[in-house]
Amino acid sequence: MKYYAKPLNKLINELSKLQGIGNKTAQRMAFNILDMDDRDAFAIAQAIIDAKTKMKYCSVCGNLTDTEPCAICSDTERDTSVICVVESPKEVAAMERIREFHGMYHVLHGAISPLEGIGPEDINLKSLIVRLQENDVHEIILATNPNIEGEATAMYIARLIKPSGITVSRIAHGIPVGGDLEYADEVTLSKAMEGRRSL
Ligand SMILES: [Zn+2]
Repeated sequence: MKYYAKPLNKLINELSKLQGIGNKTAQRMAFNILDMDDRDAFAIAQAIIDAKTKMKYCSVCGNLTDTEPCAICSDTERDTSVICVVESPKEVAAMERIREFHGMYHVLHGAISPLEGIGPEDINLKSLIVRLQENDVHEIILATNPNIEGEATAMYIARLIKPSGITVSRIAHGIPVGGDLEYADEVTLSKAMEGRRSL
């Protein structure tokens, strides 16, 4: 990489830290940025700074937000008696796209994985239990991913919550096993919600 002057080299290095961006792509992106108008290039840098400084996790549900609590948690039109539990904020976005779910969310920021040494205390689970104690919740919909970790997490949460008498359901397997909820199309996701079964 010594063919490039320091600032360009640095830009390529930083860009190649992005997931899925190899060195070749990073080089292309860097040249692309240098070819841009100053204003456009600086806007990219500013957008990164803004997103990193303004976005945080909602203290109630764990979703990504620039307000506290997030727009969903502070929406009085939503049904607070149903909470849909997902692994990441990306899945909240996927669920919101189908516009059929009007309840609340809880983002775990991961899934239980004994193989990787991730236990229940390593995910955002305690705050869910607190929410259940402090609010009148009737149903928990477990929408963790249909893979080993997602299933293990759903089972764990179901066992934890069921004694409290709250209905615990699991989304149906319209979503392929091993698939990612985030990438499920809207019809599949909608059917998965419709066909959820009680645990
Ligand atoms: Zn929230």
